[in-house]
Amino acid sequence: MDSLLLQNLEKRKQNNLYRTRVTVDSGCAEKISVKGQQVHNFCSNDYLGLADNKTIANAFKQGIETYGVGSGASHLISGHSKAHHELEEQLAEFTGRPKALLFSSGYMANMGVIGALVGRSDLVLEDYLNHASLLDGGLLSRASFKRFKHRDTADLQQKLAQSNAPRKLVVTDGVFSMDGDLAPLKDLAAVAQQNNAWLMADDAHGFGVLGKTGAGLVEDQNLSIDEVPVLMGTLGKAFGTYGAFVAGSEALIETLVQFSRSYIYTTAPPPAVAVATMASLQLVKSEQWRRDKLNQLISRFRQGAQQIGLNIMDSNTPIQPILVGSDEKLLEINHRLIEQGFMVGAIRPPTVPEGTGRLRVTLCTNHSEQQIDALLDALDQC
Ligand SMILES: *Cc1c(COP(=O)(O)O)cnc(C)c1O
Repeated sequence: MDSLLLQNLEKRKQNNLYRTRVTVDSGCAEKISVKGQQVHNFCSNDYLGLADNKTIANAFKQGIETYGVGSGASHLISGHSKAHHELEEQLAEFTGRPKALLFSSGYMANMGVIGALVGRSDLVLEDYLNHASLLDGGLLSRASFKRFKHRDTADLQQKLAQSNAPRKLVVTDGVFSMDGDLAPLKDLAAVAQQNNAWLMADDAHGFGVLGKTGAGLVEDQNLSIDEVPVLMGTLGKAFGTYGAFVAGSEALIETLVQFSRSYIYTTAPPPAVAVATMASLQLVKSEQWRRDKLNQLISRFRQGAQQIGLNIMDSNTPIQPILVGSDEKLLEINHRLIEQGFMVGAIRPPTVPEGTGRLRVTLCTNHSEQQIDALLDALDQC
């Protein structure tokens, strides 16, 4: 076995696609400690700076006092605690949907939702740049699986019109995770409705960040439940905790409880995580300054990047990728950035299409303007 595996690994190295893990000695914050060196953290998804928030950490401790650590069983046996249930009610209210259901992670939510909604004779249509978990969920559902061109409603329309599947599910990222651009949800919803298809939006990166109260892309673009009947969000990014949820009608949520295998056949997350997430939700709603400051930092970064001629992409979200192209060059630049004390994401295929390797810079409310300027200086030099 090993000799075959090693051949594959060697090939990945030669293609500059080999992944290595950085071991971090500190918690997630705007500066992290790596091998004793303090580095500026420009690669987390902790957009609002809540991952190391003291109020949330104290709620977590309180949750442990009440519930202990493990939930002990799956949600359908005895693992569904009052804390989980209350968080679901609060998430439903926050997103303006009748019901919400907690999942252990976003990856599991996407694996479980699509398969519960469509099967063998049905059709799943996904944006080309959807997150891997949505693609995997689509493939696992056994429905006929097609992709439409990125953000292209005309292509979607054409592909939907060709199908006479009994159920058709259109699936898209809300904010595209490696590009930072937004799905045209209003238009996608209209095309889906015209073709009697359902729309699912994964708002992993919009939730907490977009919208007047942080309720994400559906709040920002004022999308009703009829337009986006299946809304998914994650809690490990802007919310700074862990887990995910799906929000929608009572019939949708009950269908997931009955048929979503990644919901049913797994241990419920620790109840204390739900307690911590409720504290996080309070801060997301009440501390608008976090979004205001984040938006100022995004503008500052984009202006600076344009001035020095970086190849930034068309994104107004905290995800600010810089296109490099060659994977070899990308790794070299990334290495030099680390030497100068800056960590950004070096994103290569198959996470992104061949030839579009990029530095994925992510911004966080807790960054200072000086940190942004220092990053721009380092990028300029590298
Ligand atoms: C991160 C992410 C997920 C997975 O969520 P986890 O809770 O980290 O498993 C799903 N969809 C998108 C678009 C993501 O960016």
